[in-house]
Amino acid sequence: MKNNHNHFSPAEFGHYLSGLAGRSFPAYQQLRRVEVCYGPFSLSFRHIQKSPGAEPASVGQLKATKACWPLPDFALASTARQTAVKDFILRAFTEGINSLARQNRGVDGSGSFQAQSLPQQILVRNIVELTATAVYLSFRLSLPANSSNKILAPEAQAMLLEELPAIVEATRKALLDHQRLRIFCATVEDHLCMQERLAGRQLVAFIGDNSRLPRQSGISDLPRLDAAVPFQAPAELAVTLDFPNAGPVRGLGIQAGVTVLIGGGFHGKSTLLNAIARGIYPHIPGDGRERVITVPHSAVVCAEEGRAISKLDLSGLIRALPDGSESGEFSTSNASGSTSTAAALVENICAGAQLLLIDEDCAAANFLHRDQTMGRLLPEDPIIPLFDRVRELYEKNLISTVLIAGGSSVYLGAADQVIAMRYFQPVCMTRQAKALNLPCPGGGQPPLSCSDQRRVLPGNFEPAYENTRLRKQVPIRIKPLRAQEQQLLEYGQDLLDLRKLGTLVDADQLSTIGYALLLARQRVLGKAALSPSRLAAAVLEIIEREGLAALQCANTPPCFFSQIRQLDLAGAINRLRSLKVRKEAI
Ligand code: ADP
Ligand code: MG
Repeated sequence: MKNNHNHFSPAEFGHYLSGLAGRSFPAYQQLRRVEVCYGPFSLSFRHIQKSPGAEPASVGQLKATKACWPLPDFALASTARQTAVKDFILRAFTEGINSLARQNRGVDGSGSFQAQSLPQQILVRNIVELTATAVYLSFRLSLPANSSNKILAPEAQAMLLEELPAIVEATRKALLDHQRLRIFCATVEDHLCMQERLAGRQLVAFIGDNSRLPRQSGISDLPRLDAAVPFQAPAELAVTLDFPNAGPVRGLGIQAGVTVLIGGGFHGKSTLLNAIARGIYPHIPGDGRERVITVPHSAVVCAEEGRAISKLDLSGLIRALPDGSESGEFSTSNASGSTSTAAALVENICAGAQLLLIDEDCAAANFLHRDQTMGRLLPEDPIIPLFDRVRELYEKNLISTVLIAGGSSVYLGAADQVIAMRYFQPVCMTRQAKALNLPCPGGGQPPLSCSDQRRVLPGNFEPAYENTRLRKQVPIRIKPLRAQEQQLLEYGQDLLDLRKLGTLVDADQLSTIGYALLLARQRVLGKAALSPSRLAAAVLEIIEREGLAALQCANTPPCFFSQIRQLDLAGAINRLRSLKVRKEAI
């Protein structure tokens, strides 16, 4: 046996827990050396919390043999299918917790299984692992104690000897539904495969016919199925793609280049753009966006007033600034609408974005366009609007743009493709737009630079946190603020606000970003002087090679990680308020 655990049968474990009854909470630490064998599955503990309300809570690990959770061969036949089946298991297990476990039976929310809140998107995660003989699944639980910090043994017995086996059994039953599992596998495999093939068809996005894009509400990513108008591509914009599992699928193809979305208010423009932004990920069957597919290196560009910017070269978009500061090396701890939109554009270009998604609802209007009258009235305005760059971005750098511009006709002159949303349906208006003979954006300014001369200094990403109230130092503080589901990450002394990245869907992605910064500090900074995007690429190469497990620190509790992209990590680095960079001489 590789470990020196105490191996218990459920009956022995029940007896063992009785022995802990009434003892103070730290006695639970003994469970680190316990393995409970339930027959076809076993349980061990990877981490035991120090107090009943502790965050993170304890982490249990199930090992389920093939007899317990049988996986059909078709579900293992490709990496994409394995991603699907792992997600399927996690969802079934979570559903089991939600329907079978009593929660909060101790003080401070203890005596609970902490179910993951899973997004509509299917991500690569480290929580579920498959080996040739078994499935390993990690889960969080808060061990029960009373208000005097004493162990509640009967409650622990109910959780681990009654509810856990029932949850495992519910997961087993779910896995026997091969029809559902097959659809899961096919959906993920189709998505990932077609995503790779889009570029070969000169497409940046595809929205399959009959997709249902609208969401339940502004604060819910769940599908709104009742009154959703199914998406239908008009003949002029329709393409048919050959999916490996679904076969030929007709839908709207968004071509590489400049695409302008127009339409009246409330006709579904933003809903379409948001679906395209989410199309970088596969979606669970039933979501409505399973056949929305977007090239992987897509970025949302929007205004983010108040964010920090560190020595970024904005000179391609903003000439001199009114306070005399150099736009070639622009720093602020409080960006404006236009400077933050410009920064997001430059950062994403430098980080290798293929597709920029811009909604006029969320971008600074003066950054998008300035009319001639305004230009004459205020010749000192330093902004070179996106309008003057958008064609150059595609023609010189092959960066495509999908932009919502409902309020002004000006962008029609820059468009390769014009799509109007009318009553929630796309209509091709490219021909009508071309007939207007609108002026095409003029050149005249020096070309936009796509290289980042900044170098991230060693010493960045200090993870320690000084708690002045308690007068103690926490050596590593990396913690998503889960409660609000708001994409805020506490990192050392910093509070990293990633809400405007627009491409993160899961709290575990925030932990992943946090630990990726730490990995950058420990393994890359100091060895090489890299720009934020090159640094992000170097970290992602390590994750690619060694798996998400490379992010786990030996001296922190086991973390749950999920996939991130170079663009996301670069976006996080660029937003860190404490970021220190120097400018490399050219
Ligand atoms: P716009 O950006 O054009 O102003 P939105 O995309 O914000 O419009 O959509 C307006 C409203 O219509 C939203 O409440 C959205 O959920 C809903 N909606 C969008 N697409 C559809 C659809 N296909 N079927 C039904 N409702 C939709
Ligand atoms: Mg809108």
